Amino acid sequence: MKQSAAGSLAVLALGSNLPSRPRWLDVARAAIEGAGIEVLATTPRWNTVPIGTVSQPDYLNQLLLVAGRRRGAEWLELVRAVEARAGRRRGLPKGPRTLDLDIILIQDESWATAELQVPHPGLLNRPYLLRGSALLVPDWIHPEEGLSMTELAWRGLTGCWALGDPAVGSSG
Ligand code: ADP
Ligand code: MG
Repeated sequence: MKQSAAGSLAVLALGSNLPSRPRWLDVARAAIEGAGIEVLATTPRWNTVPIGTVSQPDYLNQLLLVAGRRRGAEWLELVRAVEARAGRRRGLPKGPRTLDLDIILIQDESWATAELQVPHPGLLNRPYLLRGSALLVPDWIHPEEGLSMTELAWRGLTGCWALGDPAVGSSG
């Protein structure tokens, strides 16, 4: 995939589990665009069951493919500004929030600092992150796994294939 004229490409994940979940996702998209970031494509919105030990409501999640003139930690400035716009308070770690905005992938960038990890460490074990990334950027290669988003999204589905799929040569 070519770089957009508007800068480098990134996959962002939105999540909300406090009322009103759809409205917070709308607020987030408007704030992202208001910061000069171009939204190129979006996934459906998925309800997901929270992971971890904190008891809390289900999340509404969505991934966005965006383009912007930012690199590395500059994307975190966007994260903080957009979360603030959605009234996010720093409460219980991993607890309920009006908006969680995470950077899942940045094209051709890999970061492992205290404040920024890209690809996002949750990518490999949260199905909606893999499925969403496979929809938005199917050919991007995970730098540590050496596999494309499509391959990673299908990896957990061993034994599941479409009948007549020539790639697996199955019949019946
Ligand atoms: P979480 O998203 O893990 O539930 P928070 O949203 O409270 O938790 O983020 C905690 C910290 O995670 C942020 O201050 C940020 O510096 C750090 N962080 C590291 N990598 C990323 C990333 N890829 N996207 C967003 N935040 C990140
Ligand atoms: Mg976060």
